[in-house]
Amino acid sequence: MKALRFYGHRDMRLEDVPVPEPGSDEARLRISYASICQTDVERWWHRPSIGGRVTEPKTVGHESAGIVESVGTNVMGLVEGDRVMVNNIRHCGDCYWCIRGAQSNCRNSFNSGFSLDGGLAEFMVWPESHLIVLPESIPDIQAPLIEPLSVAVHAVRRSGLRSGDTAAVIGCGTVGLLTLQVLRASGASVIAGDLREQSLDLAAKLGADHAVNTGDEDAVEQVLDLTDGVGADVVVETAGAVVTPRVAINWTRPGGRTTLVGIHSSSASFDFNEIVGTEKTVIGSVAAEPGDMEKGIEMVADGRVRLSDLVSEAISLDRVMKDGFERMLRPEKDVYRIMVSPNM
Ligand SMILES: [Zn+2]
Ligand SMILES: [Zn+2]
Repeated sequence: MKALRFYGHRDMRLEDVPVPEPGSDEARLRISYASICQTDVERWWHRPSIGGRVTEPKTVGHESAGIVESVGTNVMGLVEGDRVMVNNIRHCGDCYWCIRGAQSNCRNSFNSGFSLDGGLAEFMVWPESHLIVLPESIPDIQAPLIEPLSVAVHAVRRSGLRSGDTAAVIGCGTVGLLTLQVLRASGASVIAGDLREQSLDLAAKLGADHAVNTGDEDAVEQVLDLTDGVGADVVVETAGAVVTPRVAINWTRPGGRTTLVGIHSSSASFDFNEIVGTEKTVIGSVAAEPGDMEKGIEMVADGRVRLSDLVSEAISLDRVMKDGFERMLRPEKDVYRIMVSPNM
């Protein structure tokens, strides 16, 4: 079968590998769609260290959905033909954090597409325990977006948001626009912040109550005007740019909470008195924990979260480098998610 394999820094190859055999607790999926995440692009081109314990080469892709094609002998809950979403992170279950219910801090977790073979291939194998049957209402082509949605659900959970809060989301890329929708669904009014007017327009379409261009000189004043002069109760930063954590903290009201989700490729200097003097709480949030993906699926199924606008294009696996990775590398990239199908 064809699989996109990560060999190391700036070395990715579409090659022929044997079709994987499912272990006794696993199912083999025929991938319907897998999408390309900015993290995959970052790791390939900029930061080969992303991904932790990797023994190259590994098949790329952590946002994948497929159809069950065969199952191992111990698999009881899945049958051939089931449409499933890959719950991409497998926690160890017995470290300090796992036994305390804080699985997103597990130090021994495995992620598809990084430390284990992922979904940018014709087939992949994955344990039954981490495959979620998709409701009819979620089309194959949108399903991979459930992974970034689980990241958004996790961030909102971490943020401590209460219904009725005023929230802001900084960065209206894929994770930002999903976070915005989860915040709205959780009872917040939401201010969207981004530099790109086009992204702010989409944010408004997806339910943002207000949009503020983070490049405006008076952006902070605009946020104060929208919040009776106090700032947002909760701000979620998803952009990962050098300046955006500071923007997020500035938009947070004294005593409020800033959640940082974006992954940073360079480090910024920061005056911590801005946190000390205002008693703001700054929270980190990474990936997802058990239950976040299921919650995301529920929100899409009942219409509270809409994925269709975030599907930018569908391409075949043969075009994954040229029209996928290389396109996403360009600074002027105009895409949210590119869906890759091995069956096109
Ligand atoms: Zn991702
Ligand atoms: Zn663990």
